[in-house]
Amino acid sequence: MAATNDSTAKLRFAVIGVGALGQHHARIYRQLAATDNIELCGVFDANSELAAKIAAQHGTSTFASIDAASAAVDALSIVTPTTTHFEIASQLLRDGKHVLVEKPMTDDSQEAETLVQLAHDYKRVLQVGHVERFNPVFSFLQKAAPEPRFIETHRLSPFPKRSTDIGVVLDLMIHDLDIVLAFVKSPIKSLDSVGIPVLSKSEDIANVRLRFENGCVANLTASRVSPERMRKIRVFSAGDHPAYISLDYRAQEGYLYRLGTSEEQKSSLLKKLFHAKDSAIVSEFAGKKIVREPVPIEKDEPLKLELQHFVECVRNKQTPLVSGTSAKQALDLAFEITEQIRAADDQI
Ligand code: NAD
Repeated sequence: MAATNDSTAKLRFAVIGVGALGQHHARIYRQLAATDNIELCGVFDANSELAAKIAAQHGTSTFASIDAASAAVDALSIVTPTTTHFEIASQLLRDGKHVLVEKPMTDDSQEAETLVQLAHDYKRVLQVGHVERFNPVFSFLQKAAPEPRFIETHRLSPFPKRSTDIGVVLDLMIHDLDIVLAFVKSPIKSLDSVGIPVLSKSEDIANVRLRFENGCVANLTASRVSPERMRKIRVFSAGDHPAYISLDYRAQEGYLYRLGTSEEQKSSLLKKLFHAKDSAIVSEFAGKKIVREPVPIEKDEPLKLELQHFVECVRNKQTPLVSGTSAKQALDLAFEITEQIRAADDQI
């Protein structure tokens, strides 16, 4: 993309849809306005009372329509239900606006392709809200596990109060599909999926085992009918420094298990049993030691980092880390998984 003519101009942003997540987009744009030479010009929501409440909370205005929001700004976040993403995003791209659309980008592959094409034709930024890519946990993992051989992810939550217009694969598992595709960087050779509906018409629990052409295997589980919340990733990494890494996206902390050096001293039983803040030798065999150490992750709010990146991409007219093309790969894989689940269901 060509560089913008005036990189010092104040960029104007708006948020469409200020429900559970959209109100945080509004909060963060307002925070960024203090330092990033941007302005939150207003919000729009189909629920005008909610829009007025969120606008008042964040010292901004409401727009009377999506058209009015589009006419007033350079870039917009779309944080409405998934079934509305395509209609709103295609209109805004045709208006010549930069767009950050929440995940999943759409609920249809052809529509996702059209959005990618529109962003290309109108030379506009199209970023998709795969927020875990901005989680410091993922940045750490990319550095610490250069040769992933096996990946296990768990993304569990209680049943959401908001409407579930999509199944758990598109709703939750898509985060981990996007992460493993960006992490493993190899084509998929085969996949084996299973899922069942529990409280809704679509699948509420799902698991997939992905085998990549480079030999890596990923086992992903997602549930939205779990009593507990969990967002974890565990990785076996090979190479000169083999390691097992277990990380928690919510707490932004975890442990790395590696071979110890000859200088490392024997740890007390207490240190072995309890996960201490410093490293501990947890096993020894044939003169080799396995050391567990807490990972050095600098905590930060992933959504803030994601929106900061969007602002930067709009300002510099650069392709975002999670572009429409990249998000479409995760989306197409999610569709393949749901189709496999449905096909298996039809056979029963
Ligand atoms: P929500 O139901 O709480 O909020 C959606 C809001 O959109 C509501 O206030 C509703 O009134 C408004 N709305 C509906 N149709 C509209 C339209 N045509 N125009 C304007 N406003 C409209 O939902 P949510 O949980 O905030 O989810 C919104 C989107 O964000 C979904 O696509 C969801 O998948 C995604 N999401 C992403 C993450 C993430 O981690 N990245 C987390 C939660 C939700």
